[in-house]
Amino acid sequence: MKRQGILEELRVRGVRLTPQRLLILNAVAEGEGHLGVDEVFRQAKQSYPYMDIATVYRTLHLFKRLGVVTEVAIGDRLHFEIRDPDRRHHHMVCAKCGGAYDLAPDYLDGFREALMKEFSFEPDLDNFTVTGVCANCNAGPSDSPQG
Ligand SMILES: [Zn+2]
Ligand SMILES: [Zn+2]
Repeated sequence: MKRQGILEELRVRGVRLTPQRLLILNAVAEGEGHLGVDEVFRQAKQSYPYMDIATVYRTLHLFKRLGVVTEVAIGDRLHFEIRDPDRRHHHMVCAKCGGAYDLAPDYLDGFREALMKEFSFEPDLDNFTVTGVCANCNAGPSDSPQG
């Protein structure tokens, strides 16, 4: 949906839009939320069987440097999503199932203000990720109704 704007932005910045780069961008844009590198690779490979994972890595890092995608660390794996300035958010990552959940910036506004006020420290919270245990995992296996 935002793809047109992204393409325009890349063109303006003089980034060469090779077919492979477009495929990778599409894979991330069409993915549900946060995609691992291997998932992006698998997606892109469907349209272009000669795609190799090194290209996927390189392109994702290029997009990240250009601010087109955001990188989310889930466990020890990196995931990517299209960066949408209208939908800025942080992430909650479940240590058990590896699920990533979006966290609205409002939750951290007070934290940011406190750091600035008390320490004159301006935090960069764009890549802020908090790990924990999600509601699903907290509920535990539901096969023991007796309690
Ligand atoms: Zn979980
Ligand atoms: Zn996200």
